[in-house]
Amino acid sequence: MTFESPAAGPAYLDYNATAPARPEALEAALAAMRTVGNASSTHRSGREAADRVDLARRQVAGLLNCSPGEIIFTSGATEANNLALRAAFAVGGRLVTSAVEHPAVLETAKALTSEAPGSLLVLPVAADGLVDLSALYAALAAGEVAVVSLMAANNETGVLTHLAPIVQAAHEAGVLVHSDATQLVGRLPIDLAETDIDLLSLSAHKFGGPQGVGALFVRRGVHLPYRPLIFGGGQERGWRAGTLNVAGIAGAGAASEAARLSLADEAPRIARMRDALEAGLVEQIGDCQINGAMDRRLPGVTSITFRGAPADAVLASMPDVAASEGSACSSGAPSPSHVLLAMGRSREEADSTIRFSLGYATTSHDIERAVSSTVRAVRHVRATLTAAM
Ligand code: PMP
Repeated sequence: MTFESPAAGPAYLDYNATAPARPEALEAALAAMRTVGNASSTHRSGREAADRVDLARRQVAGLLNCSPGEIIFTSGATEANNLALRAAFAVGGRLVTSAVEHPAVLETAKALTSEAPGSLLVLPVAADGLVDLSALYAALAAGEVAVVSLMAANNETGVLTHLAPIVQAAHEAGVLVHSDATQLVGRLPIDLAETDIDLLSLSAHKFGGPQGVGALFVRRGVHLPYRPLIFGGGQERGWRAGTLNVAGIAGAGAASEAARLSLADEAPRIARMRDALEAGLVEQIGDCQINGAMDRRLPGVTSITFRGAPADAVLASMPDVAASEGSACSSGAPSPSHVLLAMGRSREEADSTIRFSLGYATTSHDIERAVSSTVRAVRHVRATLTAAM
């Protein structure tokens, strides 16, 4: 099978927006599409499709170290977050989340709580992006909380949330914990036998699977009020009706397996390249700042503010590098990154910030190209703006 390496085009450093498909995922998805079968049909073709889904469920569960029966396939992390929060909020009580969550959590939380004033608690973050948990502990002590939803890793800065103590405190109060682990899964190991999270969302396209496929992990024994988003034929134990996306799910499974097997080697290699990228940029470009707790980040992400160089202009001057201003979901929108604002950055600083995100297929050559292009582009934009003043 031909696999078009992303190295053939621009240096692709936007893995947090989406990762290139892993060859294993392409192979599995195509193999599924080349055969016919509805996973719900009882004849042989249907059973073959169901077998592909079963395999993928085991592969996704293998990546998380959970049981296949705890996986509900969805159309992605946005749907998984919606499903988790909708059901968990129906338990009754407040929904607690943080100011730096992805819109797939924040907007869902706002919508769910809009008719119950005071039922949403949004935790602030410190300048390094770490969540300030004091209001959470107070709300837990007051017995007010239905569900705590905190992301495992931030999509813009890569900052990691230390979930274990949060889970422990929530469980002591009898409260459910959901984590949007979209940016963590497939990038760093996660062991759900060790961490007692109740609900967890993931998305296949962030680690080399197809776009439009994800999953919600629901820990066995967690009894959620039945609140599906999509009703119909009762697939996925009634939580997600609709003919299963067999090819997409097969691709997600194969990507999970490939990530599971290579994570331990990939993560440190990617971290070294990220560090080289940061060192190259900081050395050659003055007046820049790396955002987020340096020692508590995903290996492949860096968010850098180049003061006096608006990110849209910088990125437009370096077409040979694919990186992103803020997050992909908000780029193009006029509002600055809510994550950086929550970390106390000014609007101008947020608008002058670029996120580079690396992944399994990133090469040192990509990093060299990115350093030289970014240095050139930032100098050019700063010089142009200074000249215009
Ligand atoms: N959560 C986070 C942290 C994300 O980064 C993303 C993707 N940008 C999502 C949720 C949404 O994922 P999906 O594209 O699968 O809907």
